[in-house]
Amino acid sequence: MSAPDNHWEQMLADDRAHIWHPYAQASDPGFITPVVGANGVRLQLADGRELIDGMASWWCAIHGYNHPVMNRAVQQQLETMSHVMFGGLTHPPAIKLAAMLVDLTPEGLNRVFFSDSGSVSVEVAMKMAIQYWQAIGKPGKQKMVALRSGYHGDTLATMSVCDPVTGMHHLFGDVVLKQFFAPAPDCAFDGPCPESDMEEISDILARHHEEIAAVIVEPVVQGAGGMRFYSPDYLRKLRALCDAFDVLLIFDEIATGFGRTGKLFALEHAGVEPDLLCLGKSLTGGYMTLAATIANDRIAEGIDGGEAGAFMHGPTFMGNPLACASAIASIELLLSQPWQRTVARLQTELEQGLAPARDFEQVADVRTLGAIGVIELKEAVNMREVQPMFVEQGIWIRPFGKLVYTMPPFIMNSEDTASVTAGMLEVVARL
Ligand SMILES: *Cc1c(COP(=O)(O)O)cnc(C)c1O
Repeated sequence: MSAPDNHWEQMLADDRAHIWHPYAQASDPGFITPVVGANGVRLQLADGRELIDGMASWWCAIHGYNHPVMNRAVQQQLETMSHVMFGGLTHPPAIKLAAMLVDLTPEGLNRVFFSDSGSVSVEVAMKMAIQYWQAIGKPGKQKMVALRSGYHGDTLATMSVCDPVTGMHHLFGDVVLKQFFAPAPDCAFDGPCPESDMEEISDILARHHEEIAAVIVEPVVQGAGGMRFYSPDYLRKLRALCDAFDVLLIFDEIATGFGRTGKLFALEHAGVEPDLLCLGKSLTGGYMTLAATIANDRIAEGIDGGEAGAFMHGPTFMGNPLACASAIASIELLLSQPWQRTVARLQTELEQGLAPARDFEQVADVRTLGAIGVIELKEAVNMREVQPMFVEQGIWIRPFGKLVYTMPPFIMNSEDTASVTAGMLEVVARL
């Protein structure tokens, strides 16, 4: 182990002088540590230490880092064509990936729109829903219904469907669109969803469906808005409500897609098909930034037949070939292995490893689903205090609010998973 040399001290001073880190103060971002490499499930720090990564880089790196199969796919594409515009041109990686996505997702979802980040894919879904109703002669249907404790992105339009409190809507005043909010589902993952859970959302739809374009939810797992799990039964009832009131249904599977909850897509727990599906995060195994919005034929045909005759959106880096190639490789790699067994093993290990925290006085709840393990505390953590504590344990865990959680790469073995859960317990015990 070598101490950070002067070179790193200067680099960190430059970082502090010029970079604005996420959700951080510009002048004093708190604990920041330089990473110089990543391999398997390990991050290599500049001071020579290694951390076992319990975050999969914000849930993306399902195959870990520096994976030979992933590396080869990106290298091969790099030598063929790294980027080309998508207006008027197309290319094999985008065509192949779109076909794969249509094949893997529910039957009616046939039309793939590529974009660069999860937030943009949600904006695209919102715009598609609004433009659809405009195109078929119901221009009054422009509002969204979202759930409390939800998270759908950080751009202005997506912020409007995030939880209004944790999303800090008040900071942005009237600029954030006013949407309808229904309570977060209360029904547990493994139980039924009582009618009482549907009452408020049903009431909103009954009263306002003529101004509502779509309902947007994260199926089964509400991620960055609270790490809450809920019953798939809720989704079946929600689909029926949307049909009854002629409102579109958007599923945001940016966090849950590609195996995280134990099914390839969380909607499979419910057997429910949305009108629009958003994918991102682990779509490329964390190698490149890419997202997709997949629409059904009703939406595509509706928009095609409208006044504009086209969907009005087109990102510069749409369908980037390197990103598409890494997504193809990531999906093929996932499907070529018994990933359901792997995720089930991780769930068992996370459950067993985190269970002792249920007895801690500072802990409100411990829950696991698929490769997600959550310790919910009674009070919010102080990030400046806890972040170095996890690093001392040799693990990379980045809590938010009251939530200390892990969403590890699927390649994490039992021994490393045990180190992650033990480190989480150790830190939580000391709070
Ligand atoms: C991360 C996330 C987003 C936003 O994706 P970005 O790539 O960060 O823009 C949207 N919805 C959900 C459910 C997410 O987890």
